[in-house]
Amino acid sequence: MPDRKPNSKPRRKIEAGILGATGTVGQQIAALLAGHPWFELKWLAASERSTGKQYGGLPWRLPVPLPDEFARLTVENLKPGAGPKLVFSALDSGVAGEVETEFAAAAHLVVSNARNHRMDPLVPLLIPEINADHLALVPLQQKKNGWRGAIVTNPNCSAVILALALAALRPFQLKRVLVTTLQALSGAGYPGVASLDATANVIPYIEGEEEKIEAETRKILGRLVKGAVELHPAAISATTTRVPVVNGHTESVSVELGKKAAREDILTAFREFAGEPQKLGLPSAPAQPIVYHDSPDRPQPRLDVERGGGMIVQIGRLRYCHVLDYKFIALGHNTIRGAAGAAILNAELLAAKNLLS
Ligand code: NAP
Repeated sequence: MPDRKPNSKPRRKIEAGILGATGTVGQQIAALLAGHPWFELKWLAASERSTGKQYGGLPWRLPVPLPDEFARLTVENLKPGAGPKLVFSALDSGVAGEVETEFAAAAHLVVSNARNHRMDPLVPLLIPEINADHLALVPLQQKKNGWRGAIVTNPNCSAVILALALAALRPFQLKRVLVTTLQALSGAGYPGVASLDATANVIPYIEGEEEKIEAETRKILGRLVKGAVELHPAAISATTTRVPVVNGHTESVSVELGKKAAREDILTAFREFAGEPQKLGLPSAPAQPIVYHDSPDRPQPRLDVERGGGMIVQIGRLRYCHVLDYKFIALGHNTIRGAAGAAILNAELLAAKNLLS
């Protein structure tokens, strides 16, 4: 872990809550907050099905144990104003839009995983290594809505992986991108895809996913100009599939570049890619956000997905493409870098920029 700049660390721990604490992502956020150096998980909320129950009495579906101090917390209802200022949202998108708006209006800083507000022009769609400057949208959002709180989002789990890989290639002027995903079952939440559909099968359709990847990636890579994000001009075409993998989305990516680049230049760009979290030494920031595998049969979800605490994007098989310019394979942990870990990194950036005080 890199050294932390002394002035980026909060003076005391910041209390945090989770909206949707009982789902796949909510549980992962709780697990990652255990022993977190900056944040203290104090409050949990979910649907009426879970309200009033002890967190430890509800099904826990992660391979790491539920910390005792969280097991004793009672799951509350989603009442704005009740929890701490910082709330992570891992709510189902059917309810997230309205609930997150109500929490932001009640002065909470909502750090969301849900899709509902991601493409709102005044909501940052953050990957701190790529677009930390998009946080400048927060005061504009507050002013327009008359809120003391705000909403900050992290991208779709496949878009995070693609955007990190593409961000490293921005110096070569991205023109066109083709991506085909092989997405893990945990990406569909719990219980997700029926076992008889998923076992030994490939499902060539994930509702809404291709549109999200195409639109969100261009916003993430976009430039902030006069208080608005100009979408990145690259054309992106996505095909998404669900495969019988537990964790880890794999992506086959081909890119056309405006500026000629040798294979070695691309490798160097992947290996040297870093951003604001590495400079600030944020606690969840991987020292190297992109790791390249020389072995031609890597990365693989089963062997590699947990590396770097699930916070790195792993790339392999960089080769020439006879249609576009280069093609490669990328892998990322969908519930960590693609969701819970991404949200926590976003909150660390907010804390380091004094937006949580
Ligand atoms: P999930 O396992 O289905 O969990 C959904 C959560 O929302 C649960 O805590 C559930 O509470 C709550 N909820 C559902 N219906 C509700 C209602 N009507 N009122 C109040 N609360 C309700 O889903 P997930 O996979 O964790 O995903 C959570 C969010 O993150 C979604 O918006 C998803 O699109 C997004 N996301 C997921 C991933 C991933 O890899 N899984 C990646 C990126 C983003 P109860 O348990 O009480 O029902």
